[in-house]
Amino acid sequence: MPVPNRYRRTIRIGPVQVGTYYDRHGTARHTAACTAPGCGFSADYRDRSAAELAARTHHCKP
Ligand SMILES: [Zn+2]
Repeated sequence: MPVPNRYRRTIRIGPVQVGTYYDRHGTARHTAACTAPGCGFSADYRDRSAAELAARTHHCKP
């Protein structure tokens, strides 16, 4: 699934993309989402470093 345009500072770590966006309250949210077909992993984090760590340590389900 492509990352929506509202995301900024998107980076790719392996199959996982990490992006920062601001919700309607103006709060920064950091999303890690796997782009591998059939994986479906995605999660929001309050910290950018946490999202990047999750991306780095992510392993796709078989
Ligand atoms: Zn995955």
